[in-house]
Amino acid sequence: MSKPAYKRILLKLSGEVLMGSQQFGIDPEFVAELAREVKAAKETGLEICLVIGGGNIFRGMAGAAKGMDRAQADYMGMLATVMNALAMQNALEQLGVHTRVQSAIEMDKVCEPVIKRRAERHLEKGRVVIFAAGVGAPYFTTDSGAALRAAEMRCDALLKGTSVDGVYDSDPKINPAAKRYETVDYDTVLADNLKVMDASAVALCRDNSIPIVVFSIREKGNLARVLRGEGTCTIVKKEA
Ligand code: UDP
Repeated sequence: MSKPAYKRILLKLSGEVLMGSQQFGIDPEFVAELAREVKAAKETGLEICLVIGGGNIFRGMAGAAKGMDRAQADYMGMLATVMNALAMQNALEQLGVHTRVQSAIEMDKVCEPVIKRRAERHLEKGRVVIFAAGVGAPYFTTDSGAALRAAEMRCDALLKGTSVDGVYDSDPKINPAAKRYETVDYDTVLADNLKVMDASAVALCRDNSIPIVVFSIREKGNLARVLRGEGTCTIVKKEA
């Protein structure tokens, strides 16, 4: 396999990809599948930071829509991301990939707190660092958490693995003529409200010149292909 252009990446996976074909929760078989993708990427010599969402278990907005206090519901969402991080840690370690989980909400029985210098050391030693609990504050999402950690850890790119193979000019599920962008600039994403990540995450990437690579993680081997510059994806960057 040829060497990918990036040295250190942050991979953001939405919680929903951990469900596999289920409607809710964690499908251990599918998590193992994702872990194999991460392992293959790691074997190309990349340093990998991981951020996993929590939408497969709980989303703060959904709780708030049903009358819960938003901040309280968001804390529940953050705890969901810690569960997902532990599930992914388990799957990766079963494949012999060394990992550490660092949570923005301290939980010292199960993981480390977020400490940048310590995370650097883990990456140097070849460990995958899984950042949990987003930014550690309500009214944010794990997309913002991913952008923040990508900036903090000086990642060369933020790879967003989702169920779709890139960014479209309109919703491809509704409009069969929707066109996928090969590249698109940050300001177009923000101005046209394109579905990539939430606006604060896109702005943080823009301000720190971190390209966002949107690709489908559901296709087998796609992460490694995208890293080789071969897979189908959309790259959000300064000048498209
Ligand atoms: N969340 C939060 N602050 C953060 C990150 C996450 O409050 O910094 C909460 C929020 O309620 C969110 C939930 O955790 O809905 C799960 O994260 P997210 O929706 O980003 O997961 P994904 O859509 O990626 O699965």
